[in-house]
Amino acid sequence: MTNSGDNPTKVAWYIKVQQWLNKTLNAGAGDHSFTNASRRAFIINLFCLVGVLFTAPLSIVSLVQGYWLVGSVLLTIAVIYIINHLYLRATHNYLFSANVILYPLYALMLYLVYSGGVNGTGHVWIYCIPPVSLFLHGLRRGLIEVGAFLAALVVILFLIPSPFDELGYHPDLKSRIVYSFILVGFLSTIYEYISSRFNQSLQELSHQLEVAATTDPLTQLLNRRGLEQQLAETDWMSPSIVLLDIDFFKRINDQYGHDYGDEYLVEVSQALKAKLANESCILSRWGGEEFLIVMKQQDSLKALTNQLREELAQVVLNTREGDEISTTVSMGVSRMKAGESMSKALNRADKALYEAKNSGRNKVVLA
Ligand code: GH3
Ligand code: MG
Ligand code: MG
Repeated sequence: MTNSGDNPTKVAWYIKVQQWLNKTLNAGAGDHSFTNASRRAFIINLFCLVGVLFTAPLSIVSLVQGYWLVGSVLLTIAVIYIINHLYLRATHNYLFSANVILYPLYALMLYLVYSGGVNGTGHVWIYCIPPVSLFLHGLRRGLIEVGAFLAALVVILFLIPSPFDELGYHPDLKSRIVYSFILVGFLSTIYEYISSRFNQSLQELSHQLEVAATTDPLTQLLNRRGLEQQLAETDWMSPSIVLLDIDFFKRINDQYGHDYGDEYLVEVSQALKAKLANESCILSRWGGEEFLIVMKQQDSLKALTNQLREELAQVVLNTREGDEISTTVSMGVSRMKAGESMSKALNRADKALYEAKNSGRNKVVLA
């Protein structure tokens, strides 16, 4: 038996659990990027999962042992956590789901401190409040709620008589509970501040990278990837494809230099952008001195493209030596048929462009 053949079912089982965990913990997280929404959805799901894993078995044990009240309370909590997870998965409403976790948690912790919990150990659980609250409600609201919890804690410990007083602790314990709670709150605040700042810079960086990856740096138009991405987001039925190529562009480079060639490309791009500003279309620099325009269903396509051709022929770049650079453009136009891929329609536009070039340039040819 080979090594790779060892226990394939174990690998499949492990991967399945991993996939299930991934899906469960990211349910309702939207785009799975590092936004606050996705981060919080992840924590809510984790809390629900851990909550169910704790309470469900305990509730069964309690019910079997005949502790009906404790058993049914634990069972109710487990069911609430499951419903909360399913609700978040369906609605992405992480704000409401966070409340479902936090408010009962605050109440439970205050009750544990007040009553002393099991054998007077109730207060040891309250330190989960600051991190969970700040994680789920963010710095501002989280801090307000942690502050309110702290106030309630002080009231219970110092201002009202409670079963906690009868447990026989040293009087110093109460102030130490408050101090250590403040310390954990302080550390959680620093952590939340740093991680939300880090998250914010990651989001900004991700946005910059996205723009850089989809924009042509010279003309600031969309590049090929940008156009394909935007087109995928539309629901246009049979868009038109306009492939536009500058005529004799190489001559501009040869005659005036590459820098003027670049400037001329920028001029043409700006003219195109201005002319198409009110059209439902996606404009891109397809490569070199070629532009691709995808237009939503367009009835007056021939008139529009010819107008565009005439206007681009008016684009003039004045050189510092007193020359005027101008040239014409040629276009090949096709219409994407229903169910047809863009590359097929583009192929036809390309052939039409070739025809425009071969029949004298400064022309629009419809495929
Ligand atoms: P045609 O009318 O047949 O399209 O002729 P053309 O000269 O426009 O086409 P050709 O394909 O022969 O040459 C295109 C030139 O465009 C070649 C290339 O050096 C130049 N070019 C491509 N990208 C850029 C660019 O970003 N800046 C500059 N300055 N030139 C570019
Ligand atoms: Mg070309
Ligand atoms: Mg050309």
